[in-house]
Amino acid sequence: MDAKELKEIHSKIIEVLRNKESFLITSHLRPDGDAIGSQLALASLLEEMGKSIIIVNVDPVPDPFRFLPESDRITNDFIPEDPPEVALVLDTSSLDRTGRVAGLVRKAKLVINIDHHISNEKFGDINLIEEDAGAVGEQIFSLIRSLDCPIGKKRAVSLYTAILTDTGAFQYDNTTEKTHRIARHLLREGVEPALITEKIYQNVSFSRQKLLGLALATLRRNPREGVGWIRLTREMYRKAEAKDSETDGFINYVRSIKGIRLALLFQETDKKNQVRVSFRSSREINVNDLAQQFGGGGHPRAAGCTVEGDIEEVENKVLAAARKIIVTS
Ligand code: AMP
Ligand code: MN
Ligand code: MN
Repeated sequence: MDAKELKEIHSKIIEVLRNKESFLITSHLRPDGDAIGSQLALASLLEEMGKSIIIVNVDPVPDPFRFLPESDRITNDFIPEDPPEVALVLDTSSLDRTGRVAGLVRKAKLVINIDHHISNEKFGDINLIEEDAGAVGEQIFSLIRSLDCPIGKKRAVSLYTAILTDTGAFQYDNTTEKTHRIARHLLREGVEPALITEKIYQNVSFSRQKLLGLALATLRRNPREGVGWIRLTREMYRKAEAKDSETDGFINYVRSIKGIRLALLFQETDKKNQVRVSFRSSREINVNDLAQQFGGGGHPRAAGCTVEGDIEEVENKVLAAARKIIVTS
């Protein structure tokens, strides 16, 4: 998107934010730091503008993000009396990724879709899709700036969390000069980076660490193709007494192995015969394409999908498709 186009979309969004009164802010299933942080920053801005807002996600705020200012305002039950005038959908490539909230979004008079996934389906009346943004947090930062509103410490903390988590603490190749420029601005607003990284990365629950141990014990690889994978079964969750939301980052232990170009995580969901697959890759393998073969999507180097079938079956199917992509990459 060129600068002129971006400016036009910003103007359209700003007009809506200024002129409409009631807003729903939602994001994807199993929300991550980018989803939560971006929602909270945008909500705080709208509230300051005197708007009526509700923030709704299907799944709860994961424990590591509960320290974020006003995170308890994010609700998981969503039965407002009247549908909102405007639905803001953040960090979500397709409407079905909002789960049951999709019904409420469809009832809104206007849908604004703000996202950075390459697989975004542009389902909004206004679509602000920037594939090269490191996080939606960067997009919200720029939007607040175009509105000429102050960022302030509270919003800075939320936005920093969004950017920090989606760039893997500034490690992935979605980290750009702009990412760091924005981070610098957020630090100037009073963000204390060590404090935030401590809250997010040094506060791991016992059950998560137990679960990680069980998952890593299943590590397998195909050294010739540079593929590595782990699995998580319901049995392991039970043994570790862990929650579904505690697996964020597990796949990085596979991705970081020397010689691995493609990492996969197979996770049984709480539905019988359903497996969630996460993909991470190095430069030359496009995992968005791979995930889309199974009805999912994401980014070129981080994607996911949900596949029906028993875990063994899903592993075989997905690994076979991965092999094909690797041969042609
Ligand atoms: P995850 O492996 O769950 O961390 O997801 C990696 C990336 O893929 C994220 O950007 C997700 O938004 C995206 N993603 C994960 N699962 C799906 C899915 N079922 N459909 C579309 N995108 C997905
Ligand atoms: Mn996300
Ligand atoms: Mn994101």
